[in-house]
Amino acid sequence: MPRKKIVVSSETSQGARRKATHGISRMAEHGTVGKTEPWLLDLLRTRLGFQAFRPGQEEVCAAVTAGQDVVLVMPTGSGKSLCYQLPGLAREGTTLVISPLIALIEDQVGKLQAGGLKAERIHSGRSRDESREVCRRYQAGELDFLFMAPERLAVPGFPEFLARRKPGLVAVDEAHCISYWGHDFRPDYRLLGEWIPMLRPAPVIALTATATVRVQKDIVKALGLVDPVEFIRGFWRDNLLCEAVEVGEKADRLERVTELLQAPGALPAIVYVPTRKAAEEVAVALAATVSAVPYHAGLPQAVRAATQDAFMADQAKVIVATVAFGMGVDKPDIRTVAHLALPASIENYYQEIGRAGRDGKPSRVVLYYSWGDRKTLEFLVEKNYPDEKEIEKLLKAVPEEWTLLEELAEALAMTAEDLQAVLKQLHNHGAVTWSNEGQVKRNPGAHWRKTYREQREHRMGQIDDALRYARTTGCRMNTLVGYFSTREAGSTRCGQCDNCAPKRAVARDFRPLDARERRWAERLLVELSHRDRQAVGRLHRLLFPTGTPDRQRFEALLSGLMRAGYLTDEEDAFDKDGETVTFRRLLLTPSGRKAALTGKVKCDMDRP
Ligand code: ADP
Ligand code: MG
Repeated sequence: MPRKKIVVSSETSQGARRKATHGISRMAEHGTVGKTEPWLLDLLRTRLGFQAFRPGQEEVCAAVTAGQDVVLVMPTGSGKSLCYQLPGLAREGTTLVISPLIALIEDQVGKLQAGGLKAERIHSGRSRDESREVCRRYQAGELDFLFMAPERLAVPGFPEFLARRKPGLVAVDEAHCISYWGHDFRPDYRLLGEWIPMLRPAPVIALTATATVRVQKDIVKALGLVDPVEFIRGFWRDNLLCEAVEVGEKADRLERVTELLQAPGALPAIVYVPTRKAAEEVAVALAATVSAVPYHAGLPQAVRAATQDAFMADQAKVIVATVAFGMGVDKPDIRTVAHLALPASIENYYQEIGRAGRDGKPSRVVLYYSWGDRKTLEFLVEKNYPDEKEIEKLLKAVPEEWTLLEELAEALAMTAEDLQAVLKQLHNHGAVTWSNEGQVKRNPGAHWRKTYREQREHRMGQIDDALRYARTTGCRMNTLVGYFSTREAGSTRCGQCDNCAPKRAVARDFRPLDARERRWAERLLVELSHRDRQAVGRLHRLLFPTGTPDRQRFEALLSGLMRAGYLTDEEDAFDKDGETVTFRRLLLTPSGRKAALTGKVKCDMDRP
């Protein structure tokens, strides 16, 4: 399927405008001449009560109004909803909106109704009578917007019912949920692919804030979008100063972040930690110097709400949280977001640091990590995705009739929590069905292996990506944005991260090489000038058989040499016992070659 890809960044907005205009002219062929941008602006003001478009919205609205399928990837809070609301009103008929969470649906419907629009919803939280009335109004053409959760589509006859009256537009919100590769895969979203053809000729717009290039492709395929225009923009954040620091043990991180938060202008701050226990412990430790409170999913709902309120009201200056914190948090003046461990993926990381500096003022985002973090994350993936042989064994124990999860756990001598983690995967891949009442049954003959294996590998790959970000010696903002849109990233450098401007870094502490380190660096460059592309581990053993410098210091030296432009690295891999082991090779640049000849090395490295 041919696809047009358009990235609206400041450099390429020309291109996008061309495309949108093309859409308009196509619409003109269908006899709707006159519906141009001033017309949309008018509608924006009279029906939605907004005075002007935000960056990016107008092009998207024009394309959707013109009847084109669209993929819209913009960060949270940038105003994506408007990009289906306005075209929905412009196109007439009802706009169907698919959204994964009841809370999101209620929020959106409430806002639209308050603005005098006819919006309704169908989801499991509503009574049968209420739903019936909504269905009647939909069929009578009385609704501007009908919101629903995707599991409605599994109700027999419901998609056919909807198709009896064609909608004017179909909007799939949080569209990354459809992708196996997304961070929040929801099997019910997969139903959309079967169902959307029945609703044509309405155009379909898929919206999300977190879709890497791979997830974007999956969305297009799974929804069956036809010749979609992709708008991917807004990921570049000018006011975020990114740093990543390799650290040792846990205490080390605590010391570092304590110091970081004491710098002038560092508060308010979010400190993300990997576990509930860490949230408690770090909050206690930080409370010696700042007003810090813990936040995690293990706390009672009332405590969580009170904690969040205290942070929003500036009574607590630091919130120490697990990934459970952040949904819908819109505090404009967060000055620091620190992570005390490697995140599980770049999508997660970008989402979490995106909460810093919403007011546009400079804000610092710092990642503290170590090599060991990777093992911890991999262990978690392995726990959630056990070996296929083990799965097979476990699956055999699941009856084909409905069985209570707790009974099954007991029979298998597993904790309900562990069993649940595995069964959730199997449910996603079709091998079992899981009811809301805590029952489970096996689906004989299901093909779950291929997607299961792919998803597991993908999760592992995401950890590698996160580590690659942490270890990059290139521009950090460029690296982050590149995961979402290589076009938006381009070759722009932020000029202010720890790699672009090492002297201005606060979390990282650079110092010039001492005499011994300079000799080590020279030996390394000379060795590479004899034989380029050597593997890092092998070089370390070859040049420093006594183990001095140790690997960590050696790596710090390499980063310094890379920042100074003497070296680059590339990834390579080999197979060992059926597993892929990745490693890095070092390449000398022309200036590295020159330095090897002259013996003049000028660089700095991280203070250990
Ligand atoms: P997203 O879905 O991208 O996270 P929303 O669509 O929920 O963001 O919009 C975020 C906020 O921005 C909402 O409160 C919305 O009313 C507001 N907003 C969106 N577009 C505009 C606009 N053109 N002018 C003013 N406010 C807007
Ligand atoms: Mg949204």
